[in-house]
Amino acid sequence: MPENNQKTCRCGYTRDHPWVVPKHKYSLLGWVIVGIGISYAPKEITVECDKCGEVFERIDDKETLLKNKYK
Ligand SMILES: [Zn+2]
Repeated sequence: MPENNQKTCRCGYTRDHPWVVPKHKYSLLGWVIVGIGISYAPKEITVECDKCGEVFERIDDKETLLKNKYK
């Protein structure tokens, strides 16, 4: 049994590592709206390793998404 059960990706990073970043996922419409500078809540946020793309966490609850929208 490992001492901490923190998940690591293929590179061996935990979610506290600087490579592991939250990514905002938008629908096509969302991208257009954000692209013209209007605040829009993402469809989903994934916390993933920027290097290998391993997903640590997927957030799709509306309240969290609204708090994380672009300003
Ligand atoms: Zn990785």
